[in-house]
Amino acid sequence: MSDVEQVSSVFDTILVLDFGSQYSHLITRRLREFNVYAEMLPCTQKISELGWKPKGVILSGGPYSVYAEGAPHVDMDIFKLDVPILGICYGMQELAWINGKQVARGEKREYGPATLKVEDASSPLFEGMDHSRVWMSHGDKLHGLPSGYKVIATSDNSPFCGITHEEKPIFGIQFHPEVTHSTQGKTLLKNFAVNICKANQNWTMENFIDTEIKRIRELVGPTAEVIGAVSGGVDSTVAAKLMTEAIGERFHAILVDNGVLRLNEAANVKKTLGEGLKINLTVVDACDEFLDKLKGVTDPEKKRKIIGNTFIHVFEREAAKIQPKSGEEIEFLLQGTLYPDVIESISFKGPSQTIKTHHNVGGLLEDMKLKLIEPLRELFKDEVRHLGELLGISHELVWRHPFPGPGIAIRVLGEVTREQVEIARKADFIYIEEIRKAGLYNKISQAFACLLPVKSVGVMGDQRTYEQVIALRAIETTDFMTADWFPFEHDFLKKVASRIVNEVDGVARVTYDITSKPPATVEWE
Ligand code: GLN
Repeated sequence: MSDVEQVSSVFDTILVLDFGSQYSHLITRRLREFNVYAEMLPCTQKISELGWKPKGVILSGGPYSVYAEGAPHVDMDIFKLDVPILGICYGMQELAWINGKQVARGEKREYGPATLKVEDASSPLFEGMDHSRVWMSHGDKLHGLPSGYKVIATSDNSPFCGITHEEKPIFGIQFHPEVTHSTQGKTLLKNFAVNICKANQNWTMENFIDTEIKRIRELVGPTAEVIGAVSGGVDSTVAAKLMTEAIGERFHAILVDNGVLRLNEAANVKKTLGEGLKINLTVVDACDEFLDKLKGVTDPEKKRKIIGNTFIHVFEREAAKIQPKSGEEIEFLLQGTLYPDVIESISFKGPSQTIKTHHNVGGLLEDMKLKLIEPLRELFKDEVRHLGELLGISHELVWRHPFPGPGIAIRVLGEVTREQVEIARKADFIYIEEIRKAGLYNKISQAFACLLPVKSVGVMGDQRTYEQVIALRAIETTDFMTADWFPFEHDFLKKVASRIVNEVDGVARVTYDITSKPPATVEWE
């Protein structure tokens, strides 16, 4: 059984078929917010190959026009499932196309807010939501009612803003309830999933822990062993703790100290994960190996490649040394993949759809002949954090800022030497310490210090100095796609700058990065 089959056999599931809208994943997100489990699959999904029965189906929006040649169409078998169906925008146009083809280009595109006028107050879809603001984003529209349907809502510009089948629980809406601009969109989705589909609201992390532990035990069996890398970050720690809860010592965590981790990180991970969370952990000191390979390299992409490849090499070598007590071979590799990565690889991108693979894992799987185990692949980041808290992982770790795989190597601009890494990590440590002291850590999405490969003149104790420059970065973002720099108080920046110049040898000057993303990226390299 696949992962999805398993989860869907325990939790009532709403199937979201993705027609490629930029908002599709938000439908899943919203349903889970009121504890209904939802799974998104591409619109090309064959229902006969599903392997589980959804409680209801939602057809998402999409950039295509239903009447265009090559436009994606739903598998007609969804109607044989005999469960409620909700079509959103393209999804509604698809319902209309199937039942009479009355869809064509509108006179003008409609993008932005509209007011929903409920015409049939007895429709369970709109319970509690007349005159609410809804968000429109379409160029095509219905030019007549599909056969067997009636109008249940209108808006100034859309006479077919909401429709329903006369007898069956099949609905279509022109607007997007999944975006927060639709003020009562969540009410609508809840009306559909809970009242109409009768989906159980049992998707909680408490329930997930039980199901997942059971699933891991079944998958791994009574004797097999599992290996996985930890980084000190949220995802790998939560995944490792969950594995430990499920199979104890048969899970082997490896932390590869690559010489470009944060200050004291390897020791801290040993303490928190090994001693605190009782994860069966091996810390491998491979600092020299990584730093030797990085010698003379200044190109950021090359740095990333070297670190990625060396990691695979070291990990494989250390994995081979592990001698499981059971005498069994290691059979599985743990990976902390999250749902957004899964969505990224399955979302419908038209006929030229490509599947993204995580290259570092891909390499390991091929070389080591391991099977992949991904306990977090159904979860969004905030669900992972909640799960981490339930598993007894400290608040501090659970809410940690993201840290890139190549670590400080891409925060030391230019050549990465031991000395340069030391300067960068000390400056970073002071910066983060002050951010925490000021109570700002959780208001910032990511903060770090960068060491620039330029020297600048300074004066200290009447002596002329000629040392390097530290650049501080702090950003606020919800999705890391766009980001703004964090508006620190001047006194805060003054304090951090003074501490860094005074306490870190080799730094003569501190600057604060005030570029947003875009045009800049979050990291400097
Ligand atoms: N492409 C269709 C239109 O323009 C559907 C848009 C959508 O689903 N948001 O009407």
